Order: sequence, then C-alpha cells, then structure tokens
Amino acid sequence: MTGDELAKTQETKTLQTESEVQKVLAPCPGTSPHLVGPLLVEFNWNRTMEAVRAEMKPSLLEGGRYKPPDCISPHKVAIIIPFRNRHQHLVQWLYYLHPILQRQQLDYGVYVINQDGEGTFNRAKLMNVGFIRAMKEYSYTCIVFSDVDLIPMNDRNIYSCFNKPRHLSVAIDKFQFELASPTNFGGVVSMSIEQYLVINGFSNEFWGWGGEDDDLYQRTVIKFQGISRPDMVTGRYKMIKHERDLHNEPNPQALDMLSRTALTMDEDGLSSLTYTINKVHKDLLYTFITVDVGRPH
Ligand code: UDP
Ligand code: BGC
Ligand code: MN
Repeated sequence: MTGDELAKTQETKTLQTESEVQKVLAPCPGTSPHLVGPLLVEFNWNRTMEAVRAEMKPSLLEGGRYKPPDCISPHKVAIIIPFRNRHQHLVQWLYYLHPILQRQQLDYGVYVINQDGEGTFNRAKLMNVGFIRAMKEYSYTCIVFSDVDLIPMNDRNIYSCFNKPRHLSVAIDKFQFELASPTNFGGVVSMSIEQYLVINGFSNEFWGWGGEDDDLYQRTVIKFQGISRPDMVTGRYKMIKHERDLHNEPNPQALDMLSRTALTMDEDGLSSLTYTINKVHKDLLYTFITVDVGRPH
C-alpha cells in the first residue's frame, strides 16, 4: 500500500466513525415538539380493531410497544388497563391513545389485564397484576393506570410520572369537567415504580365497584402527603358512555374497609398478591394478559 492509499483508508475510517457517532441518539427534549394541545374526541364511529391495527402498524412494535425513532425518551412507561368485556371501548382507546402517547415521545407499552371468568370484578387487583407483569418485561420507570373508557382531550396531559403520584383524569365530561370530589383518585393515575412500591400497590380486597381508588388515595396521602394534578383545562377527558357492567355491583363493604386503610395497607397489596395468569397474547396494539384473580374470601 502506498502512503497515499494508507492516508485514504485512515480518512475513510475517521469518516465512518463520525457517522457512527451521529447515529447515537440524543435525549428527547423536556417538552415534545409534536404536541398540539386540545383534541377533538368523538365516539360516533365504528372502526374495527383490524382497521386501527392497520393504521398504527408503521409505528408500533409487537405488544403495543413504541420508542421515539429520533431521540432517547427518559419516560419508560407501562400503561395498565383493567379489562373485561369492553371490546369496542378498547378499540376507541387504542385509536386515540397510541398517536397521543407517540406525540408525547414516550418509550411505552400497553398492557390490557383481562379478568378471566364471570366472578366479581376486581379493578385494583388487575392493576397490581399488570404492574408485576410489565416489570418482568422491560425496565419501566413509570406506570400509568387507565380505565379503558377514558380519552384525554389534550395531549399536553403527559402520561408520565411526577414528584408525587398523579391524578390525570381530573376534568371528565361525565362530571361536567369538574373533579368528582377533592379526594377523587380514579380513572387515570400515574406513579413511578418507587412510589408504587412505597404504597404497597393497590389493595387486593375491593371486589365490585367503588372504593379502591379512595383507598389508593389514602395510601398515597399517608406516604407522600398529597398528590399531583394537571390544571382543569389540560386535564379534560371524555368517558365513553356505558352502563354499570355485570358482576361489578357497588361494593357494600367499601366504606367500612376505607376506615381501616392506614392499618391494613402494609399487609394488603403487592406484598399479599396472589393470582394465576391463564394466557398472554401479543397483539400489535397491546399485550393482552388473561388472569384469574380468584374470589372474595
Ligand atoms: N371494567 C371492565 N369491565 C367490567 C368492569 C370494569 O373493563 O366489567 C374496567 C374498565 O376499564 C372500566 C373500569 O374498569 O373503565 C372502571 O369501571 P367503570 O367504567 O364501570 O367505572 P366508572 O365509570 O364508574 O368510573
Ligand atoms: C367511589 C369511587 C369513585 C367516586 C367517583 C366514590 O363514591 O368510592 O370509587 O371513583 O365515587 O365516582
Ligand atoms: Mn367508566
């Protein structure tokens, strides 16, 4: 090899190294440049799951996973949806939420936790199962728990974690865009892994409708002296209209249980969780986990 040829090879090598350096992604900015603010949300359409799948195909990885293509997101978020027999709501949730979460530049995964069988529904226990399962799959740093029927009307309501556990669904159309009560902590809530571990997760003992979110609020206030919330414009939501589901009757024991949260929370929660996973299905739009949560004892 002549001196000239050698110099050229070295030059090529340097150029290659430079282009490789450029491929290493920078962290995403503090605020995503893709956000648009208020969104039009309406449910008078009948898209199928198949149609939504086709629309989302270019951006998603199997299991409802996404990472921004052009930057490294500091927000590694598992989204947990408690579920049974709400297929069309799930279609609508996926249709609206995937694009929003992507504009928010989150590194996220969607987990639908489906209660198996016809027994009394246990929303809170499904949340605990979702948390444990998601943590086994990826190094998530943040969990968002969301009802399947709540659609944000503003993409500046970020599905990530804050210095305190956060109530995101503060202004729902069903409650005339006002807080249902000052202590309401239902619908959509986020917390970091550490925060969730400190409160020992949700209670496993709330069977049927009501109270489990009030119990979560108490746990959070006891350990963190309060919660975080977006303002009432950013925090607007639409709830897809529905009747009370079968096998999810109001829980007559809820009030009594809520008087003892401070005494029971360290023994009732992640630390006492038992369940059986009966099936895991990876769809493009979500990971669907069917679980036997047992029955009240
Ligand atoms: N849910 C479900 N199937 C049921 C009961 C409840 O999927 O049979 C889930 C679903 O995510 C729902 C959430 O639990 O949004 C809370 O239940 P619901 O919507 O009845 O409560 P509310 O509208 O009173 O907040
Ligand atoms: C229930 C909560 C519910 C709230 C608003 C309370 O009475 O215990 O579970 O989120 O009402 O509907
Ligand atoms: Mn609802």
